[in-house]
Amino acid sequence: MYIKKQRLLTPGPTPLLPQALHAMMGSDIHHRTEDFRKMYRAVLADLKEVMGTSNDVLALVSSGTGAMEASVANLFSPGDRVIVCTAGKFGERWAEIVKAFGLSATVLEEPYGGVVSPQRVIDALKSEPNARGVFVQASESSTGAAHDVRAMGEAIKKTEAIFVVDAITGLGTMPLDIDGWGLDVVIGGSQKAFMIPPGLAFLSVSPKAWAFAENSKLPRYYFNLKKEKKNAANGESSWTPATSLLLALAESLKYVKSIGMDKLVANAQMLAQATRAAVTALGLELFVPHSPGSAVTAVKAPKGMDSKVIVKEFRNRFGSIIANGQGSMQGQIFRIAHLGYFDFPDLFAVIAELEIILAANGVPVKFGTGVAAVQNVYAEAALAKETATV
Ligand SMILES: *Cc1c(COP(=O)(O)O)cnc(C)c1O
Repeated sequence: MYIKKQRLLTPGPTPLLPQALHAMMGSDIHHRTEDFRKMYRAVLADLKEVMGTSNDVLALVSSGTGAMEASVANLFSPGDRVIVCTAGKFGERWAEIVKAFGLSATVLEEPYGGVVSPQRVIDALKSEPNARGVFVQASESSTGAAHDVRAMGEAIKKTEAIFVVDAITGLGTMPLDIDGWGLDVVIGGSQKAFMIPPGLAFLSVSPKAWAFAENSKLPRYYFNLKKEKKNAANGESSWTPATSLLLALAESLKYVKSIGMDKLVANAQMLAQATRAAVTALGLELFVPHSPGSAVTAVKAPKGMDSKVIVKEFRNRFGSIIANGQGSMQGQIFRIAHLGYFDFPDLFAVIAELEIILAANGVPVKFGTGVAAVQNVYAEAALAKETATV
C-alpha cells in the first residue's frame, strides 16, 4: 500500500476533465483581442446551449456565491419582500445574502435532509402578494436533497415575483427546463458538473428578471449584470476575465455537448441510484430518505461512529477526498459526489473503499456487498440497453 492516488470525490471541486486542464496552458492570450472575443463568444453560446435556454447567459469571475450575490444586488431594491426556501447550508446562504442587502425575507425553513414543498411556496405567495422574488436551491449540496423547482416555477410564473434558482449543483444532475418552468435566474459554478477548477460562476437571466434590473436600487459595482450583458454582446467581459478557466470551460462544454447534457444528467442519476443501493445494502442509512438529488449522496455514519473518521480514512488509506457534513451535520454524515466527471469505475472504487473502512472500524461487512449493488445497477442500466440495441 505504498502508492496512493489522490481522487477528488467531493460535490465541488470535482474531478477535472483532462483536456480542459491541458487547455489552460494556452492562457497567454490578451482579453482585448479578436482571439479572445472569438473564444468568449463561443463559450457563452455553448453554455447557453448546454443550459438549454433562450435567456441571456453571462459568466462572472467568482465562485458560485458571487453569482448568488449578483442576482440579489442587480435585481432587487432595499426593503423588497422576498421568499427564501432553506433546507440546508446553501439555503441559509440565500437568507444571509438577502439580509445583507436589506431585503425583507420570509424564510420557509425545513430541517436538514428535508425539502421545502412547492405547496409551502404557493401558500407563501398567497400570504405575501407583494413578494418580488423566490429563492431556492435546485440541489441542496449540504444534504443532497433536490427541490421540485418545476412545480415551484409554474406557480411563481403566474405572479409578479421572479424565481432565482441556485442550480450550482443542479445543472448537469437534474433536468432543468429553464424557459418552460419559469426559472428566471439559474446559477451555475465552474467547479461542479462543469469539470473545471473553481473560479467562474454563470447565470441565465430571463426577460422578466431583466425588467427587475431596470428598477433595482441596490448598490453594486463589480457584479453589474447590465454592464456584463452589454460587454458580452461584444465578446468581452467587463473586467479582466479568468482566461485560463474560460479556455478550460470551452473544452468541457465541447465534451458535454459531445455526450449530450441529458446524458450527463443521466450519468449522475445512475451513479446516485447505485450509491443509494450500495450503502443501503451495507446497512447504512441515507440522510435524505425522500427527494434525494443526484449531485451528491449524504450517508449517515454508523451508530457510535464519527463521520470524520470515515472521511479521514478515505484520505489516509486511499487518497480519496470525500466530504464531511457541514455545520451541525459535521460528524454525522459523509457525502459522495456524482456530478460531472465521475464514472462507474470511480464508484466501484469508492464503495470498495467504504467497505474496507467500515470493516476496519468494527462494522460488520461482507466484502463485495456494496460493490455488487453498484454492479447490478450498472448491469441493469447499461447491459440491458446494449442487448436492446444489438
Ligand atoms: C458549491 C455551491 C455553492 C457555491 O459555493 P462557492 O464556494 O461560492 O462556489 C452554492 N450553492 C450550492 C448549492 C453549492 O453546491
